[in-house]
Amino acid sequence: MSLIVQKYGGTSVGNVERIKNVARRVARTFSQGNRVVVVLSAMSGETNRLVAFTQECSEFPISREYDAVISTGEQVTIGLLALVLKEMGYQAKSFLGHQVPIITDSSFGSARIEDIKPGNLMAELDRGVIAVVAGFQGVDADGSITTLGRGGSDTTAVALAAALKADVCEIYTDVEGVYTTDPNICSDARKLERVSYDEMLEMASLGAKVLQTRSVEFARKYGVPVMVRSSFNDATGTLVCKEDKEMEKVVVSGVTYNKDEAKISVLRVPDRPGIAALLFRPLTEAGINVDMIVQNISHDSQTDLTFTVTKTEFKHAMKLVKETAGKIEAEDVIGDPNIAKVSIVGAGMRSHAGVASRMFDVMAREGINIQMISTSEIKISCVVDVKYTELAVRVLHEAFGLGKTDVAEEK
Ligand code: ADP
Ligand code: ASP
Ligand code: MG
Repeated sequence: MSLIVQKYGGTSVGNVERIKNVARRVARTFSQGNRVVVVLSAMSGETNRLVAFTQECSEFPISREYDAVISTGEQVTIGLLALVLKEMGYQAKSFLGHQVPIITDSSFGSARIEDIKPGNLMAELDRGVIAVVAGFQGVDADGSITTLGRGGSDTTAVALAAALKADVCEIYTDVEGVYTTDPNICSDARKLERVSYDEMLEMASLGAKVLQTRSVEFARKYGVPVMVRSSFNDATGTLVCKEDKEMEKVVVSGVTYNKDEAKISVLRVPDRPGIAALLFRPLTEAGINVDMIVQNISHDSQTDLTFTVTKTEFKHAMKLVKETAGKIEAEDVIGDPNIAKVSIVGAGMRSHAGVASRMFDVMAREGINIQMISTSEIKISCVVDVKYTELAVRVLHEAFGLGKTDVAEEK
């Protein structure tokens, strides 16, 4: 008898009709003789609606109470699915994070899972119950509700699969798997049969929101096979698994974009030791993550420093940076939320030269100005004006021969 964790995202549980569709799929898996744990997101749009309420009530809402509010969407969907399954004649029971329990640290808004005690769920599964668990939420040592960051239901599912030693974690979503780029903005995007944990980790952290980054970290750490597939048909999806030799041959395997970041530039900062530490310390203390950082060459002992933060934390970061800029006598602080980070990812970049210059050539040909660049062994990212996002993704996807048509031609 296999133990399967199935996670259904917001679009897949977007209304009662769709929840009934999920119930039929869950029932089918259960009837085939499997033990099933289901993890659900809130209905699509619901978490955004809840976040907007908190922003109406507070300038910087992220806190214990923010999580108390934004975690509620999942409570509705799990209750409804359990009701439908019971109506169909199955035993089903809903579980909130604290009822599992899924124990996290206290970083409200982006808590990390520290421990999952599988005993309660196992006992129910042994009795033939289908367990329906709220994604995205946990409980900290004080008993406060926490949330795992946007898209966090994926992480709930993979972490549960690891804790329960499940045979597979299936992520059901509104596309048929992981593609070479977002199939919703590039119709030539190709579905990948398999993708390595490492590449998926890069793609996720660079914006391919089909899986939350932390879910891939969990999958890689505990060796959980993750199958990404559609909740609307039975097409085979994409298996996220360990890298094999075949995968290494591909130089660039995907193009990603992220519109969730904003850029902050601190102009004409005195160029002396300790300045960067002074600027970034208040951000760290406020729990604000800084992503790309670029410092230009210093002239007349002054320098410009530019970095990116998430859009959600942009206002807060601007306030803190302006305070420090005053103290260190920087000339000005400029914020720009109208940016996007476009990246190319591929394990094969390790062993191939010239990928970066090709990327820059392609952007130049389209007249797209590159504002910031960062690279790692297996990715290159460029910050561009947000209005060029889709164009940049499409031309890079084509230039690196990733499309369905390109592959068909090779054969
Ligand atoms: P869910 O609500 O099911 O969790 P998400 O919206 O979080 O779904 O993630 C699925 C979406 O991810 C797709 O609709 C697609 O637009 C987007 N996406 C971005 N990059 C990729 C990619 N490389 N492969 C597949 N989907 C992608
Ligand atoms: N409902 C949460 C969100 O919208 C979690 C998830 O969908 O994975 O971010
Ligand atoms: Mg998601």
